[in-house]
Amino acid sequence: MFLEPHFKGQRSGWIEVVCGAMFSGKTEELIRRLKRASFAHQKVVIFKPSIDVRYADKEVVSHDKNAMLAIPVKHSSEILTYVTDEMVIGVDEAQFFDNELVEVCQKLALSGKRVVVAGLDMDFTGQPFGPIPALLAVSEYITKVHPICVHCGNLATHSYRLTAEKSKVMLGEKESYEPRCRKCYSMGNIIDFSHKISKAKLE
Ligand code: ZN
Repeated sequence: MFLEPHFKGQRSGWIEVVCGAMFSGKTEELIRRLKRASFAHQKVVIFKPSIDVRYADKEVVSHDKNAMLAIPVKHSSEILTYVTDEMVIGVDEAQFFDNELVEVCQKLALSGKRVVVAGLDMDFTGQPFGPIPALLAVSEYITKVHPICVHCGNLATHSYRLTAEKSKVMLGEKESYEPRCRKCYSMGNIIDFSHKISKAKLE
């Protein structure tokens, strides 16, 4: 489990990235870190891209309904206009932000803020997603979280899309995806078919 570093006389802040596939608990981990800071009377704030309207407008909601209020912003540069005396800045669903998010996070860290960024490391095609790869390069601390492959029980790395929808940004229901390990992901819809066959045999 990630434990916050303690620096005496630290003159700048730092960047933490929490990334992984869908259903890995990224948002829960972001919320856990910010709630701990909040209990210690540190002022916190969370931002999310306004594209993410799956749940209540101003809340970062994880799948288990653990929620914190978040400010929806269209462009990452808006984050700088909102931040004042907050010590800890959270960014959820960071993969949907523009690439300027990297510079924004670095500015915040340099001004003494602790920045916690959560996002998908790969899109459904298995490619690095949005500003996440660059954020990994410039961050001080990286936590990769993994769900469990629904087919074989190994650690999952990929978000497998169960529909034929091709667009990269599809904020559908979680039923449209399942976590898979590298091997089961590479087998694609062969697994879907075998799934249906074994289900048909049972019925
Ligand atoms: Zn698997």
